[in-house]
Amino acid sequence: MQGRALLIGNWKMNKTVEGSAGHARTLIRALEDWWDPKLVQVVLAPTALAIAAVGRILAGTDIAVAGQNLELGTEGALTGGISGYLLYEAGARWVIVGHSERRQHFAEDDALITEKVKAAWQAGLNAVVCIGETEAERNQGATERVVRQQLNLLLAGPLKGGLTIAYEPVWAIGSGRVPEPEEVAEIAAIIHGEVGARWPEAENRVAVLYGGSVNAKNLGGFLNQADVGGALIGGASLAAGEMAAMVRAAQQEGPRAR
Ligand code: PEP
Repeated sequence: MQGRALLIGNWKMNKTVEGSAGHARTLIRALEDWWDPKLVQVVLAPTALAIAAVGRILAGTDIAVAGQNLELGTEGALTGGISGYLLYEAGARWVIVGHSERRQHFAEDDALITEKVKAAWQAGLNAVVCIGETEAERNQGATERVVRQQLNLLLAGPLKGGLTIAYEPVWAIGSGRVPEPEEVAEIAAIIHGEVGARWPEAENRVAVLYGGSVNAKNLGGFLNQADVGGALIGGASLAAGEMAAMVRAAQQEGPRAR
């Protein structure tokens, strides 16, 4: 039996509001007539300014919208901040938390990321938390230690909302380099093991995605691994044709039932 794959397109700081809306329209057309949302769940994360416009275009389809980040709290003196409640109001039902670019450029650490996940749940959003080692950590053989460390605080409290964990080796993001699917499978099994140890009743509710230079050609290799439930996709999600090709690959190839 085939499981349901989850594909999340992270558009980062790309596309205007109009460009994002156009991209959503093109993708809807490209998926028409063949995409089965029961087999592949699709989520798009446009820039925050485009969430409402993209959400309006996707209304009535099975494609959901995500924020790329949120701040803590609901409202208050936080210039430039966007809360989970504002994301939800704009139409998002998902939010990416702790992307390596935010860890690197905005000094987000595991404590803040854990608080952001709680804020996401309070706002009714599914949280997608990114974890993964840097190239230096990989070269030191520290991948497993880093992944367990990044999960530690996150899994310490109770599970109170939707949680997806994206394993994204930092060195693979935007680089065109990818780990072997079997290496991803090993890490995905470790993540599932940690989740199952902390929340035995919820192990199967927490999907593990792979992210880092995914495209329509290599996606199937990752989805064929047990424990890998989908992908978080950056660059390749910016072209509607490539996104549609990834949905097709996911529909045909995975993920394997656990
Ligand atoms: C990402 O930034 O989450 C990502 C996976 O990017 P890319 O697919 O471009 O490597």
